[in-house]
Amino acid sequence: MMNFIARFLRFVVWVLILSWGLKLIGKLLAWAFQRAVDTDQQDGSEGNSSSRDAQRTLTARQLVRDPVCGVHLAESLAIPYREDGQLMHFCSAECRDKYASGILRRAVNG
Ligand SMILES: [Zn+2]
Repeated sequence: MMNFIARFLRFVVWVLILSWGLKLIGKLLAWAFQRAVDTDQQDGSEGNSSSRDAQRTLTARQLVRDPVCGVHLAESLAIPYREDGQLMHFCSAECRDKYASGILRRAVNG
């Protein structure tokens, strides 16, 4: 009879340990899952901030106007041309040359 009680107690202890262990594993999984969700959210916020950075660089990137053909383009893509200390931007070398020859013509005429 004592042997049976001892076995039963051992069984109860095992059940307790197993349930506690399962609960712990569940908590760990929930924690890991929560962490994964958190990092996802952090990635999302980073994505938002990077898109904000992109917007900032977009606004920081000056749009310049080609005075010859009137096209607006990013300053980094434009062909710079300095004339009388004033920096002009052109969409192509063709426009730049056209503008330069126009200056030349004006200079000759005037
Ligand atoms: Zn042009």
